[in-house]
Amino acid sequence: MTVAYLGLGANLGDARQTLKDAVVCLAQQHTITVLAKSSLYRTAPIDAGGDDYYNCVVKLETTLSVRHLLALCHKIELHFGRERPFRNAPRTLDLDILLYGDHSIDEPDLIVPHPRLIERAFALVPLVELDPALMIPQHGRADAFLAAVADQRIEKMKSPCQCPVLNALSGGNQEASQAAQATKATKGPCS
Ligand code: ADP
Ligand code: MG
Repeated sequence: MTVAYLGLGANLGDARQTLKDAVVCLAQQHTITVLAKSSLYRTAPIDAGGDDYYNCVVKLETTLSVRHLLALCHKIELHFGRERPFRNAPRTLDLDILLYGDHSIDEPDLIVPHPRLIERAFALVPLVELDPALMIPQHGRADAFLAAVADQRIEKMKSPCQCPVLNALSGGNQEASQAAQATKATKGPCS
């Protein structure tokens, strides 16, 4: 079992709903236990045009190798209509591996910790919300980088989510994750 953190982002379509559905989809995987979900944040696009983003971070425990976890992220992105017409294009769903245990990976198509994690408020702020004392391999304490991203616009969403499974996950409730797994779909990326 490895503890990993995924960064979720969306700014096309019903972005808030997509993020909620994607978290439920992750929780329904037999290979994943969602341990906690950050608040939802609204953030400014960086190096890109388009609408504001919605972002959150999910902490999970998984039996998947990091490669299989990346493949699952791509599969779920596709399920939610992800297209890549150009770099930094608006997206229905982006799923990035921010951290995978204490692993450091530097390969052409997979870099962990995520290379832009410490430069982006939309990843760093929800990550530190989940684990204030978190250490990032090769970098040290995550919260030490918050000052450097303080000029990036990010707003925590206050409106309560009505989904009981998601609300329980926000409190770091493993039973909620198991309940989500019990509702496992028979087809698609959520199975
Ligand atoms: P973005 O960098 O804006 O998230 P994409 O989602 O299109 O852009 O990802 C481009 C590529 O980044 C993916 O095909 C993937 O192979 C690669 N990549 C490298 N490291 C990671 C990581 N830690 N998490 C997710 N994708 C990664
Ligand atoms: Mg991505």
